[in-house]
Amino acid sequence: MRRSRTFPILAVLGATSVLRATTGLAAGGALAAATALGAEASSVQPAAVTASRLTHASSEPRNWLTTGHDYSDTWFSPLTSINDRNVGRLGLAWHYDLDTHRGQEATPVVVDGVMYTTSAWSKVQAFAAATGRLLWQFDPKVPGKTAFYACCDVVNRGVAVWRGRVYVATLDGRLISLDARTGKPIWSVRTVDGRRPYTITGAPLAVAGRIVIGNGGAEYGVRGYVSAYDAVTGKLLWRFYTVPGNPAEGFESPALARAAETWPPGWWRSGGGATVWNAFSYDPDLDLLYFGTGNIQPWGRMPNGERADGLYSASIVAVHASTGRYAWHYQTTPGDMWDYDSDQTPTLATLMIDGRPRKVIMQANKNGYFYVLDRASGRLLSAKHYVPVNWSRGIDLKTGRPEVNPQALYDRTGKVWVGEPGAGGGHNWQPMSFSPVTGLVYIPAQELPFPYLLDREFKPQALATNMGIDQADTSLPDDPKARAQALAGLKGYLSAWDPVAQREVWRVTLKGPWNGGILSTAGNLVFEGNAAGEFVAYRASDGAKLWSFPAQTGIIAAPMAFSVAGKQYVTVLAGWGGIFPLATGVLSFKSGRQVNRSRVLTFALDATDRLPAVSPQPISIPPPPAEHVSAALAAQGAQYYARRCGSCHGDDAVSGGLVPDLRYSAALSSEEFWNAVVNGGALEAEGMVSFKTALSGEQQAAVRAYLIQRAQESYAKHGRNADSAAAAGSGTSATPAGGG
Ligand code: CA
Repeated sequence: MRRSRTFPILAVLGATSVLRATTGLAAGGALAAATALGAEASSVQPAAVTASRLTHASSEPRNWLTTGHDYSDTWFSPLTSINDRNVGRLGLAWHYDLDTHRGQEATPVVVDGVMYTTSAWSKVQAFAAATGRLLWQFDPKVPGKTAFYACCDVVNRGVAVWRGRVYVATLDGRLISLDARTGKPIWSVRTVDGRRPYTITGAPLAVAGRIVIGNGGAEYGVRGYVSAYDAVTGKLLWRFYTVPGNPAEGFESPALARAAETWPPGWWRSGGGATVWNAFSYDPDLDLLYFGTGNIQPWGRMPNGERADGLYSASIVAVHASTGRYAWHYQTTPGDMWDYDSDQTPTLATLMIDGRPRKVIMQANKNGYFYVLDRASGRLLSAKHYVPVNWSRGIDLKTGRPEVNPQALYDRTGKVWVGEPGAGGGHNWQPMSFSPVTGLVYIPAQELPFPYLLDREFKPQALATNMGIDQADTSLPDDPKARAQALAGLKGYLSAWDPVAQREVWRVTLKGPWNGGILSTAGNLVFEGNAAGEFVAYRASDGAKLWSFPAQTGIIAAPMAFSVAGKQYVTVLAGWGGIFPLATGVLSFKSGRQVNRSRVLTFALDATDRLPAVSPQPISIPPPPAEHVSAALAAQGAQYYARRCGSCHGDDAVSGGLVPDLRYSAALSSEEFWNAVVNGGALEAEGMVSFKTALSGEQQAAVRAYLIQRAQESYAKHGRNADSAAAAGSGTSATPAGGG
């Protein structure tokens, strides 16, 4: 398939005020103000989580102590009072409107009746878990301009809790310790070099008095690492780099000296990538901390055009949690050039393999293979593709290496390679769930082919993603046939996978890709929200659809379950987002999603809360500027747009709805206004930085000409009704920026 040349972003000025006016949302403000804990939880010290409680999390079914429920990241609840016989009686117990409309990816933590969660822009909320009463909220005031370096939306995946404190990592790279009773900051440390394009979207993990956190940015040019901080003082205890640095400065460990032998000379200048941007799991008996690492940076080609494994990129890695010392690694994609990050949550389980119990680590990797490894040694036990795979013909169980299809090496062929899976992965960050009751892993799987083409003139740039692929020549032409073909290739499904037999047991086909993470429960249930705005309960044993709730908004986060005073609840954050809606514009509408109304939704049996009715919001598409633009200038602008604008504002200048659709931007009709935004950075607080250093005045004018041309084409085709993508991008879904 060919993809469109550009991914538009642009927001209409004033969209934020429209949003506030139409939704009645409270504008952010300084939110560290805290309310005392309510009567619901006053008798216990809040968040009194200890090493022993975390190690034995499954013995406290009423609680959900880490984002993944327990150190094994099972996303499994042992609760049974909501089950496959009564789930039809499930109703909304309470809802809470979040104050941004960007993607929501967090799974809340519940400790002794109090829920702690995060929302977009790294904000933190504490609720009385049974009633939804807000106890406090904290806004770290992430500068809006940070959004530029967040490849995949301004999301956050949740908190860690430890001995009366709540820990959040912010988009701009801080780790903050909050008082669980008040939400007031106790300490804050900067975990990244602020001069490099690092961001953090992952949740920290508390491990025996240490708070562990990684970072992202491998699409821009950074060196990945994991850090551990003292939970009480915030002192840095250890740091594990996933990529060796400049040899002239010496390597930090023997493991990095060994890794350096797997890179061509000069790799370190680009940072190398291999970022640890998602989740951790932990085995207390082995004291091993597990995480995955991201792609090599840049994707397309290493220095000197050489290919090499590039350790420890695209790998599952184990380090000793007390020291950060290397234990083992397994590289899922040696010499990755398809963005096959290995950052999907590593799930721990004990499986009966060849008649004996084995302690394993499992991952449904972005590259399409489901891996089962011995988690003490890192030895590969089995690997099987769970979605269609064309980049490889299989995995050699002896060497652990994939047999790579030579056609997939697009740096050598010089041709477009349509990879399956694509850069979106057969499974991305959305958590899968393992049920020890059914023995099945529930995977939010998808098929998203992606066109890879080497950028032969690639040079790293500021204010750009630096992937080394040509996004200008692989964008979708504005041709209905090509688009229909591309759409037909996009699929999403919930796959119930037997990790011992390595085969699919059942599958539920969904409307499109990019659906929510999974919760499974001992009540023989699997919960998943989807892109089309439905929150669904399936029977865990056979996938029968038993219940659903119209969430009014697409869902990508994974749900969780808890109980208070013996009554069970299920909670999920609603609010679609991430890279797919940002970059793919009209393609993302295959999923049939609606404009975001981001909320915390909590359900219980026989509950009767209701969401406010959705009133249709009038979409007013402004007539395009009448200005005549030269076709040659617009064609140039299309190239610049594809390289600099499209990954947020959407392919071919069609926004996926999270950020403004530039065809309908008020800035388009006024050159002065346009310059103020694109050159002057007038919308920096909303995440739209000045492109002064990245695009010359002539180039900026060419982009404007291209967008005027696209606006005129679209208006001629759709008139004031706009197309579906435009409707969502025309102001209803823009977001207040970090400062609120
Ligand atoms: Ca990546």
